[in-house]
Amino acid sequence: RNEEARKNALANELRSPIICVLGHVDTGKTKILDHIRKSNVQTGEAGGITQQIGATFVPIQTVKDRTECLNQKGKLELNVPGLLIIDTPGHESFSNLRSRGSSLCDLSILVIDLMHGLEPQTIESIKLLKKGKTPFVVALNKIDRLYGWVAHDNLNFTATMKKQTENVKIEFKDRCNQILGQLAEQGLNACLYHENKDIRKTVSVVPTSAHTGEGIPDLMMLVVQLTQRMMAERLAFVDILQCTVLEVKVLLGLGTTIDVILSQGKLREGDQIVVSGLDGPITSQLQHDPTYAVILAFDVKVDKDAQDMCKEMGVTLFTADIIYHLFDNFTAHLAAIKAKKKEENAHLAWFPCHFVIKPEFVINKRDPIIVGVDILEGRLTVGVPVCVPSKDGLILGTVQSIEINNKELHEAKVGQSVAIKIANFGSEAPKMYGRQFDSTDAIYTRLTRKTIEVLKEHFRDEMTKQDWRLIVRMKTLFNIM
Ligand code: GDP
Repeated sequence: RNEEARKNALANELRSPIICVLGHVDTGKTKILDHIRKSNVQTGEAGGITQQIGATFVPIQTVKDRTECLNQKGKLELNVPGLLIIDTPGHESFSNLRSRGSSLCDLSILVIDLMHGLEPQTIESIKLLKKGKTPFVVALNKIDRLYGWVAHDNLNFTATMKKQTENVKIEFKDRCNQILGQLAEQGLNACLYHENKDIRKTVSVVPTSAHTGEGIPDLMMLVVQLTQRMMAERLAFVDILQCTVLEVKVLLGLGTTIDVILSQGKLREGDQIVVSGLDGPITSQLQHDPTYAVILAFDVKVDKDAQDMCKEMGVTLFTADIIYHLFDNFTAHLAAIKAKKKEENAHLAWFPCHFVIKPEFVINKRDPIIVGVDILEGRLTVGVPVCVPSKDGLILGTVQSIEINNKELHEAKVGQSVAIKIANFGSEAPKMYGRQFDSTDAIYTRLTRKTIEVLKEHFRDEMTKQDWRLIVRMKTLFNIM
């Protein structure tokens, strides 16, 4: 990966840097984002800004146009394809990500109100940025609120500053120096961006107004410059997928959807994806599962074409004039599918069990083994293979029948003493009581990863808390990670 990244960095094959905006409430974070968005919507360029879910993509052409006043000779090469700005500064899941020190963001913009200086959430944000080692710039916003400010819409900062009166310049300098002092108290070296001689050690400060757009070209230019100079390798395109989930939503007609930030690689339609859920990995599978391939048509006529199309596509169609009937039909459909899946997987549903042989009840030592047993944990069912985990998983055979007082049982429960017949398992050589195993061995039903999957997926309602606890313990015995 490093080699590929280095090569692509040299060839300037870069991805868009991911930028997030943070700072105290009311400093103008949303307004700055709005300004970047709106100005481009107004100019109506082709291939303009695309507002995506939770993020805004600003194409490089837009950055070029907006920064023309600064880069008239085109001296600075702009190599990134654009900027991906996270829209939702206060987004809860995003602040979660930030506090976990996520490396999702390549660069942050910390917004400070020039008239208020550092506020509690500014200091909080600085702590998060330091903790996550995220590079950032400061937007010193609301310069238009300086007394006597004359606005020059969308002009770059140094040019508009030159046009201000002496008094405005003095007030700006005072307030700016005061804030630089406050930043120093937080352990940060900072200075105005055009005076910054060492961008790696000193934080650049860009004065802006989100109302008039002054300084916004400087901010955009600086962000591109910094990302290109400081993180070319990090931004180099490599074909390894990296996605971060921002939000999980249930959308009408679509089901469960996730909003993700795709920060590296390519995601193609039809790709199967795996995300980590609270109960383990979740794998996308969605359109061939017949369970939810249904249409509930309530009090509407369904024409013949639609009915035929449903048949063709394997979609089950329910029609009813009474909503409760529709509900009952659908519930019955779900129950039938569940029962069918259970039936299909019944031969693999090996419920967990731990038992020992009663030495005084050994009726037949081999082929088939017939012994009396005490069920110590779980339950024993017919058809299940049993083995001795402490002897390298030695398989004794499959439980062929269970009896109590000459009566056949399908299942024996914890606490019961029963007689069982164990038949040979597959092509395994028959085992003999007293030779490979005896009454001192702890015998368990066989556990595999597949067994656990089947029990989880189709037999959860039949499993007790004790059963799951036994499975957890057996996983260690059977070396299942
Ligand atoms: P956020 O909470 O940081 O997202 O702040 P907002 O973007 O919602 O802005 C808070 C208030 O400050 C709003 O009333 C904005 O109109 C105002 N505001 C934001 N930026 C500027 C600015 O550059 N100049 C002036 N005068 N007001 C601003």
